[in-house]
Amino acid sequence: MRIRGIAFAIFITAGLAAGLWWTDGLGEPAEGAPPYAEADLEPPDDPYAWVREWRRPEGPPRVGLQAGHWKNDEVPEELNRLVGNTGSSSGGYAEWEVNLKIAQETKNILKQRGVEVDILPATVPPKYWTDAFLAIHADGSLDKSKSGYKFAHPRRDFTGGADRLTEILYETYGKATGLAVDLNVTRNMRGYYAFAWWRYEHAVHPMTTAVIAETGFLTNPSDRRVLVDKTEAVAQGLASGIINFLTERNLLE
Ligand SMILES: [Zn+2]
Repeated sequence: MRIRGIAFAIFITAGLAAGLWWTDGLGEPAEGAPPYAEADLEPPDDPYAWVREWRRPEGPPRVGLQAGHWKNDEVPEELNRLVGNTGSSSGGYAEWEVNLKIAQETKNILKQRGVEVDILPATVPPKYWTDAFLAIHADGSLDKSKSGYKFAHPRRDFTGGADRLTEILYETYGKATGLAVDLNVTRNMRGYYAFAWWRYEHAVHPMTTAVIAETGFLTNPSDRRVLVDKTEAVAQGLASGIINFLTERNLLE
């Protein structure tokens, strides 16, 4: 209880400090954007017995693609801090529309390989399980020169796959888009609310391999051209990473 109390105090302090630089994903403020993510709360050391005994359901490979910020105004009460967080926007594009288009094109590629794909809004169904879950975002910064993409997974991953999925995505996404890597993965990415099954009902199942993508900076003209005008390349980069991952896990031929 004592440690929890301390962790809670740190969380509150971090939350207040974070209030000074709310941002979409990077440590730079996006105008008027509250955070999309939770602060630094850890899951329990050991998941519950039912998680250890968990077996993958029979059936084809399943993937969830979340279009970040989509239908943000429809979140349940436990996530009501997300209301009004529409993400970054630039060049006449709102982030959610860019994210949704990327998700749809990625779904089309995966479907051709026999993968079952759900496209999800900001709210994830309770204990949502798939072989892979990818939250799709596009970054924003007041500094228009900031560019690049990055991927992150939850701090503690009980599936044993999130690290590998992240690694593969870095490779396939860079190759497909030609974008540079941005090394500034934030606490908010690793503490993404949809990963936090120990805290929220509307979050992924602990046995869902989950990753969050910041696909590039919508506020950077050259990144934006890729995200908006070369969405097939962006989708191909994400789909290839997921396909390679599912193949390694013997879920695809
Ligand atoms: Zn976002």
